[in-house]
Amino acid sequence: MEQGKRLKSVLKEFFGYDEFRPLQEEIIVEALAKKDVLAVLPTGAGKSLCFQIPSLINEGTTIVISPLIALMKDQVDVLSANGIPATFLNSSLSPDELRRRRNQILSGQIRILYLSPERIALTQLAEETKALSIDLIAVDEAHCISEWGHDFRPEYRHLAALRRDLPQVPMMALTATATERVRADIVSALGLDIQQPFIGSFDRKNLTYRIDDKQNGFKKILAFLESRRDQSGIIYCHSRSGVERLATKLQQHGIQALPYHAGLDRDVRSRHQDRFIRDECPVMCATIAFGMGIDKPNVRFVVHQDLPKNIESYYQETGRAGRDGLRSDCLLLYSVGDATKHRLFIDEKASAQEQTIAREQLEQMIHFSESDRCRRALLLEYFGETYPEASCDSCDNCLDPKATFDGSVPALKVLSCIYRVYQHSGFAVGLNHIVEILTGAKTEKLRRWGHDSLSTYNIGTEFGRSGWSHLIRQLIHHKLVQQDPNRFNTLHLTPQGTTFLREKPKLALIQPPQRPGSASPSLPASSDDFDPELFDRLRTERKRLASERGVPAYVIFSDVTLRHIARAYPTTTEDLLEIHGIGAAKLKDYGELILDCVREHQSQSPASEPAANSPSQRLPERISKLGITKRRPQAGAQDRFVGP
Ligand code: ADP
Ligand code: ZN
Repeated sequence: MEQGKRLKSVLKEFFGYDEFRPLQEEIIVEALAKKDVLAVLPTGAGKSLCFQIPSLINEGTTIVISPLIALMKDQVDVLSANGIPATFLNSSLSPDELRRRRNQILSGQIRILYLSPERIALTQLAEETKALSIDLIAVDEAHCISEWGHDFRPEYRHLAALRRDLPQVPMMALTATATERVRADIVSALGLDIQQPFIGSFDRKNLTYRIDDKQNGFKKILAFLESRRDQSGIIYCHSRSGVERLATKLQQHGIQALPYHAGLDRDVRSRHQDRFIRDECPVMCATIAFGMGIDKPNVRFVVHQDLPKNIESYYQETGRAGRDGLRSDCLLLYSVGDATKHRLFIDEKASAQEQTIAREQLEQMIHFSESDRCRRALLLEYFGETYPEASCDSCDNCLDPKATFDGSVPALKVLSCIYRVYQHSGFAVGLNHIVEILTGAKTEKLRRWGHDSLSTYNIGTEFGRSGWSHLIRQLIHHKLVQQDPNRFNTLHLTPQGTTFLREKPKLALIQPPQRPGSASPSLPASSDDFDPELFDRLRTERKRLASERGVPAYVIFSDVTLRHIARAYPTTTEDLLEIHGIGAAKLKDYGELILDCVREHQSQSPASEPAANSPSQRLPERISKLGITKRRPQAGAQDRFVGP
């Protein structure tokens, strides 16, 4: 069979998917040609398939290095559920269990072997692997090898030795971290021989990005959650106490929410995490300690109650939403006060170098939050990509563009106020002080410095204090004013600002938000064309199966699959095989149960009809070469299953 066709049939048979996602096929072909690969694809792009499919086609064993023990177990569960023999070795196993697994591996029963990087140093791997035929070494989260990455792990250094011991085995390094520097580190540390890395787009098309004012933040969060009942999501808070407060308040408002942060007992933490992953509790309030290694595909939303410290963190954290490709929403509540808090933290950092980097990153984050440009375009630009469209139709700035007005007069008021202060006192002042002069505040300081006698005193009655702060920050973004972090954040005119004062051109500014109490448009929840009642029934069934087997719900079926079922109303096993995410193994394990669910549902609500009757297709040819003893589908399905 032609290679492309063959790969697709493996994709369908083992994973139940019809199409490859971008770059998956190219990467797989490269790996099958025994070449080294570096793949940089964003979270949710489907990196795991890139080594899982070659492992099904190759004759020997694929080794996968993964840093997270919890994740390893999940991945092995997912593979086993799809009928693919996989196992892992790590420090969580008893000596007996280790011995048992080792024997299994040595007898060639295992296709995919997950190892933690520590294992490489511990075991006499080189010895053991002599007995094995290893076709591929996949290094997941490969950025952990670089000190320049955001998650350096010294254990990853052992991988260089692995390369030395097994020089003939091709390596595949996978990561979701994009910077040039980290990529170069991966290539040199692993000694990869590559022509060109595979770099995917960082555009997460199924995510919507919204930023709202933090004013009335809790009410906004509540409204957001209420339109998303039972959907799973994470709310990130800056501090542990913030997490506790929010979780308690949400519970008091009847929302099932649990806290997660490093201050909780280990047991409590892992219990909460489990409940979240198993869809037993929809909302997780967490510090950023939560999320690394959470592989839950149906996270439908990520809310940032507090401002993240840089764009990279924001991208990583929002990236945990919608890994299954379904529409998911990201909401950030922005306040200037949060930015100030971050600045104070930065001042406490040890080295001047660290402070400079952190400050610059924070300013970029603030700029991103306050900008009126497409959020998606801004994010992609941050990662060195250009977004070709004029509008993404899925961020607040594209969906409801901010009203602008001719802001030349207020801009001139601000600029001349900064100018007058300097002229009068010989020193510069901060943003709040300028706002106080403009709004005619009666403070001791203004009197003492004589700033209440300036010609710009009390000339700004058209806006309140927060309005003026908002406008001044826009002038900073327009580079008319500069805020000097090295001199107590005092405001200075830039050369452009001076020119502006002289030439008085027009300037469009965003209308500052209304005073407290102003409503923000409520965010609609994502809706799709499927039967919600059937979906709920299926979800309950999935939850039951998952608890029975002690695995996360998505190991049984993804949300995408359940929605597909709740749209197509399958009635035969043949129909089932048309469903996204159902391959031979899942058909056997759960086929009858699903059909029962659908039948029961239909008998109770006779109106349900398939959305479209898809013609049944012949099953792809079985890949006899695999030599994997697959469990046979159950009687009734058999005749259709065997294929040509
Ligand atoms: P990554 O490691 O890149 O973050 P994963 O490998 O965890 O992503 O995949 C994310 C989700 O996408 C998983 O649920 C996976 O089963 C699914 N997936 C991967 N490839 C495809 C595909 N070709 N079609 C449909 N779903 C896919
Ligand atoms: Zn946009």
